[in-house]
Amino acid sequence: MTLVDERELSDLKLCRKECSICGATWLNNVHHWRTGKRGSELDLAGLVCNQIKAAECINTAKGRTGGDTWEKRAEFIRKFDLESKVSE
Ligand SMILES: [Zn+2]
Repeated sequence: MTLVDERELSDLKLCRKECSICGATWLNNVHHWRTGKRGSELDLAGLVCNQIKAAECINTAKGRTGGDTWEKRAEFIRKFDLESKVSE
């Protein structure tokens, strides 16, 4: 009885890791943005970790490309801007 109770408790335990460099958090190994929104490690790498280039960063996708980047975002904004000008 006691053993079962203890196991249930440990299953519910939330494992929380926070990167002191980029401020991102991992809840049970799922990355969340500082805002609490669920995120992508690859996007985090492209937007934050690859820019900082800190060895202390705990993001496992750090150094990898293919996620969201500021270049991609700027491109998106440029296109959006162009489209809204065309429709005016
Ligand atoms: Zn980090």
